[in-house]
Amino acid sequence: MIRRALSRSLALRFAAVILLVAFVSLALLATATIVRFNNGLAIQGEELARLSSQKLAERLEGDARLARAGLERQFNMHRAALGDIARRSEIQKAVASGNIVAIAEMLAPLRKFADLDGILVVNAAGQIIGADTSDADIVMANLALTANPLNDKIAAVLASSQRETAAGAVEVVRLKDAATRTALGAVVQGAVAQVITYPVFDDFGELTGALIAHRAVRLREAQLEDFSKLSGIGLALLQGSDVVSIAGLDAANSITLAPLDANLLTDGGRERVSRCVDFELDTRLCTLLPATELSALAQDMARSGESQGRALVLWLIGYAVLVFIAFGLSAAVVTRALVGPLSAITSAVLSLSRGDWRAPVLGQERCDEVGAIARSVLTLQNSIEERDSLRDERLALNDRLVEQEALLTRQNLLFTAALENMAQGLCMLDADQRIAVLNDQFKRMFAIPFGANIVGLTAVQLSRIIPDRVARRNFARLARRHLGAAVRGASAAFNVELGDGRAVAISHRTMENGGSVATFADVTDRKRDEERISYLASHDGLTGLLNRSQLTETLEKTLRRSGNSDMAAVLFMDLDRFKILNDTLGHGAGDAVLRVVSQRMQDCAGRYDSIARFGGDEFVLVQTDARDLADVERLANRLISAISEPCAVEGRTVEIGVTIGIALAHVHDSDPDGVLKKADLALYRAKHDRRGAYLIYDPDMDAQEAAKRAVELDLGLAMERNELSLAFQPVINASTGAVTCFEALLRWQHPVRGAISPAEFIPIAEELGLISQIGDWVLRNACIAAMSWPASIAVAVNVSPLQIKSGGLGLSVMRAVMVSGLSAARLNLEITESIFLERNEQTLATLHELHRLGVACSMDDFGIGYSSLSALSSFPFDTLKIDRSFVREMADVPQNRHIIRATCQLARDLNIASLAEGVETREQAEFLAECGCDQLQGFYFGRPMPLADAKAFIDRNQAEVAAQALTRRDVAA
Ligand code: C2E
Ligand code: CA
Ligand code: CA
Repeated sequence: MIRRALSRSLALRFAAVILLVAFVSLALLATATIVRFNNGLAIQGEELARLSSQKLAERLEGDARLARAGLERQFNMHRAALGDIARRSEIQKAVASGNIVAIAEMLAPLRKFADLDGILVVNAAGQIIGADTSDADIVMANLALTANPLNDKIAAVLASSQRETAAGAVEVVRLKDAATRTALGAVVQGAVAQVITYPVFDDFGELTGALIAHRAVRLREAQLEDFSKLSGIGLALLQGSDVVSIAGLDAANSITLAPLDANLLTDGGRERVSRCVDFELDTRLCTLLPATELSALAQDMARSGESQGRALVLWLIGYAVLVFIAFGLSAAVVTRALVGPLSAITSAVLSLSRGDWRAPVLGQERCDEVGAIARSVLTLQNSIEERDSLRDERLALNDRLVEQEALLTRQNLLFTAALENMAQGLCMLDADQRIAVLNDQFKRMFAIPFGANIVGLTAVQLSRIIPDRVARRNFARLARRHLGAAVRGASAAFNVELGDGRAVAISHRTMENGGSVATFADVTDRKRDEERISYLASHDGLTGLLNRSQLTETLEKTLRRSGNSDMAAVLFMDLDRFKILNDTLGHGAGDAVLRVVSQRMQDCAGRYDSIARFGGDEFVLVQTDARDLADVERLANRLISAISEPCAVEGRTVEIGVTIGIALAHVHDSDPDGVLKKADLALYRAKHDRRGAYLIYDPDMDAQEAAKRAVELDLGLAMERNELSLAFQPVINASTGAVTCFEALLRWQHPVRGAISPAEFIPIAEELGLISQIGDWVLRNACIAAMSWPASIAVAVNVSPLQIKSGGLGLSVMRAVMVSGLSAARLNLEITESIFLERNEQTLATLHELHRLGVACSMDDFGIGYSSLSALSSFPFDTLKIDRSFVREMADVPQNRHIIRATCQLARDLNIASLAEGVETREQAEFLAECGCDQLQGFYFGRPMPLADAKAFIDRNQAEVAAQALTRRDVAA
């Protein structure tokens, strides 16, 4: 409080000093002003005197000028009046006439009226010819005028005058001059007169003369008197000091004027002051005023000057007071503005010293020095606060660090425990790529001695300690390769093989500090499982070959990789007779055969070839390293002969064949599915045409395939359209040569494609399920046809296994027999052994049923099937038809002859008739006959023929047989 009061009183003292200084300065200023003002007043008095004289002079001169103007106006009025007279026509005529009396009589009243003193008339030559009075002495006047300077003036007016521009001329003359008076005929009235000359013209505008009037200035001129009265000023027209005219003044003969000062004149008695202006001739017009007027004016001016001075002093004092108040107020404001904030700032600074840095500091927003001080104090406060808070923070940080250290110690313990108990091996490298941490699991994994000092080693150095050679080498390679990556900041995951077959997965990650951490997991089991799963997913479980999808993938890769120089071939294989074998010997045997076959395939295949089982008995081999087509064909032949080798299965020897369809990649197709499809097509063809052989894909096959489609479409309609017919091929008794039977063979005459072979369309009919319908039609028509033959001749009808299986055969046969009326004994059904492949009781029952009805059954195509012999034991056939392939190759393949002979013997032993088909030559016929074959069929005896031809054939045959019988009898006889 005391300090505050002290600071207050200091401020007050400061304010008081300022006020005192201000007051003293103002007092000095006022004194100086007043002294200076007084001096000014003295000077002003003199100046005023001078000014009042000048002012009076100006007034007097102005009035003198006005009076002079009045005189001049009077002169002009006189001239105008004379002009009026001169223009009067009676005056003009009088002047032109020169009649002196008339002139006088006319002019006299006009002169008075115009206030002129006298008028003369001169002719154009300037000679006086008359006057306003007849008394005038014209002769004397003319004489006087001639000598007078006035004469020249008159002559000038006459010389220059024009009627339109006539203005007349005014001249002032001295009337004191006697000659002038004479010339004008003037009676003296004043000292100075006005002479007016005005030209006169006749009616035609010719100058006839002039009027010359004079008018003396009177001693008391009314004009001047009026002016004097109005202005209160005396007037005097003086010639030298002689008075010509006077107004507002007492009469005087002369007035002498001498200079009073620079502006004014005064008379001899100094009673009047005056000012003059020059007038006509040597006269001057002076205005006069009593001298008292001048002193009165001076006094007036002094008075007004004094009052103004006083007002000025008063104003000065008022102004000083105002300034003083303003000064005081501003001092108070300044004091207030400075003292408050400054004391607050002071107390804030004092508070700071006591440690209170939050005391309010006023005035920081101000832009002046107080503001600057306040802001500095504030900055000081802030920095002290900041320093203190920094100190507090550091203390808190210290506490936290201590806490963290404890935490770290705890965590370190946990980390070590975790490190040693984790399932994976762990290795941590520092920024210099040296080992910082390595757990026991790692040491166990790589069999590193536990005592070895490892920390600080590089990864490569570590690898040297690993005892296992393979693990050591692999680890060293990885360390070298991946250390570089680690330095570059890359992360990686990879596997390493240990020497004992174990696999370790390493996950390696770089850390921000430039070091890295790697974990090592034993993934041996997982890897094995994965390999197993992937193997199962891509391989056939039975044979261990690839499966279909894997092969397609491999093929795709091969096609992508192989250039045009390599020939990749796809061999699509299908086992012949496998189905029969599987059905007869059981699936166990079937599986064993498949394994043997797949092994043989692998033996034949090249190193880079891939083989897959496509399911069932279908296999695909992709040959990758064939140089040319011959290579492919060699492989196909190798496969056929290897697979066809007999093999022992479950104590039995079985034979199996293979048919192969081949397509060449890049040549036939570059798309894996496309190549496979083409190989499959080739296989299909081969199975049809050349079982047990290979067939290379031919673009024609596509056409055949397309044709097959067309056939499929048309076959359904063939019966409706009556396109089917039967051909009959005779069967001959080998010993008698007589026709014993006709085999009915189906014919299809296609409207566009012509004759289509049953070998082609029967399988399609089977596929499409049309075979029963067609078979039914064949049976009926065959029986009907047979009815037209002799009763000794039978008809043989081919029956499809599917026809029998469908179960409708019995009914079909009955219907045919009944419809035709044919004896069942004349009907012979040709059946292939394949019907017995599946042991179907229903089928056998049907056949037995038909047999009992008397229908004969032949076993067709004997010898080419797989179980022809077993079929023979299944059913009591009536005829055994030896397949035509045996007969065809009889000459070339000697074994066939043995087979034929044996088959004939077999038939005899079984008490079955034997029939050989496909007999084309006489040799074949003779051989077969010699073998004891009962019946013969073939082109040698007769081709399949229409029914009409068959009848003719029968007739011919019967004739021949009869003839031969005769011949034989003759021979016998
Ligand atoms: P397949 O039962 O073996 O019939 C005999 C085939 O051999 C007939 O062919 C016949 O023309 C032919 N052939 C006869 N002699 C000779 C010869 O000396 N040399 C040669 N090279 N061939 C000869 P086709 O008529 O083309 O019949 C072929 C096959 O169509 C038949 O073989 C048979 O399996 C089947 N087929 C014919 N007609 C029918 C039918 O109505 N029903 C059924 N299910 N199949 C039939
Ligand atoms: Ca047949
Ligand atoms: Ca046959």
